[in-house]
Amino acid sequence: MRFQITLPLNNFQKQTLRLFILTILLVVNNASYSQNIKIGLYRNFELRTLIFKVQEGSYTITNQDSLNVEMNASDVLFVTALGQKLSLWNSAQHLGIHESIKITTKNSQNKMSIEPAYPVLPTQKYYGNFEITIDTANRMTATNTVPLKEYLAGVIEAESGTRALPEYYKAQAIICRTYVLNHLDRHKQENFQICDEVHCQVYKGFGIEHGPILKAVEETKGQAIIDNQGMLITAAFHANSGGETANSEDVWSTTMSYLRSKSDPYFEKHRHSHWTVTISLDEWTEFLQKMNLDTTNKTKIKFIQKKRTKFYLLNDQPILLSDIRSHFKLKSTLFSIEKSENKIIFNGRGYGHGVGLSQESAMEMARRGKSYQEIINFFYTDIKIIDIYQTTYLQALFPEEEPQ
Ligand SMILES: [Zn+2]
Repeated sequence: MRFQITLPLNNFQKQTLRLFILTILLVVNNASYSQNIKIGLYRNFELRTLIFKVQEGSYTITNQDSLNVEMNASDVLFVTALGQKLSLWNSAQHLGIHESIKITTKNSQNKMSIEPAYPVLPTQKYYGNFEITIDTANRMTATNTVPLKEYLAGVIEAESGTRALPEYYKAQAIICRTYVLNHLDRHKQENFQICDEVHCQVYKGFGIEHGPILKAVEETKGQAIIDNQGMLITAAFHANSGGETANSEDVWSTTMSYLRSKSDPYFEKHRHSHWTVTISLDEWTEFLQKMNLDTTNKTKIKFIQKKRTKFYLLNDQPILLSDIRSHFKLKSTLFSIEKSENKIIFNGRGYGHGVGLSQESAMEMARRGKSYQEIINFFYTDIKIIDIYQTTYLQALFPEEEPQ
């Protein structure tokens, strides 16, 4: 679908155009953009020691001064936080103490692995360049700078695994690209653009299916989603809708025209379609007391939820289903409750907040031959898929997505 502007414009079109240009200007302004995206790594952890190991190609370690050390295949570099500085070792010698370092390569296909040794975390592999610094709170910050397309492929692999079909990957690529365009300055204060955790989008470098996913990213180059006001959308997604997606305002209190509840016939027979959790009656009573609810009266526990609702009523006292979900770590708020002897049983459907695109249903749609446009238009209401490279403003934004 193409975003076309025709003249003369009516008032609605003028407003749409104004907002669209405003969006573009904001994005361009925020991103006097380098060709790459800079990602903060392992941001949920207090990093003390990282081990870099070259998987393929050669890299150079530099600082702001005279440090200049080459790393070749299988070479290792230990980086440890030491107060306000970084202490470096390779397998042969100490490479001094530095305020910050860069590890760069000239070939974008070279590969590096990072193994956090303190705390111990899984080893991940990356393309691109790295920068390690210490912030004022003595916290180590490691960043990875890669072309946008490599970042998007990494996010899609982390978010949706490796077994989906190309049309699904294309839909996910457009969603993730839309998110990035909307959040380029989210971590401005920390000297990178996007973090690698759920806070932004989960990114773990590249994995085994990088090639096919990268192809889907390239085939949707420059495509992003706007709403009926011409603004980039908040392209929310979750694992499984349970048969009905949720309105944005029922989950986050903000009404968004494109995040509307709708019936989802594709949700069945997947990993998260149905679930059951059983707890003791004591745990249930304890929870109700913790919520300051009167449990002395005889209460009717049975609760059936066919359509999504927000509350469970206990003797006319409302309890948010989201509170029950978070307390008992349930997969979704789309559940029924029944009592059996001294047990409480939650029978639920779906996984996640239920807003926007359901990943398992989108994968099912791809299996049934639906295109990525059909998938996106099914889950997001009254939107357009645009090509950001159709405007001269945006052509300059992410040139790294151009074929090399
Ligand atoms: Zn973030």
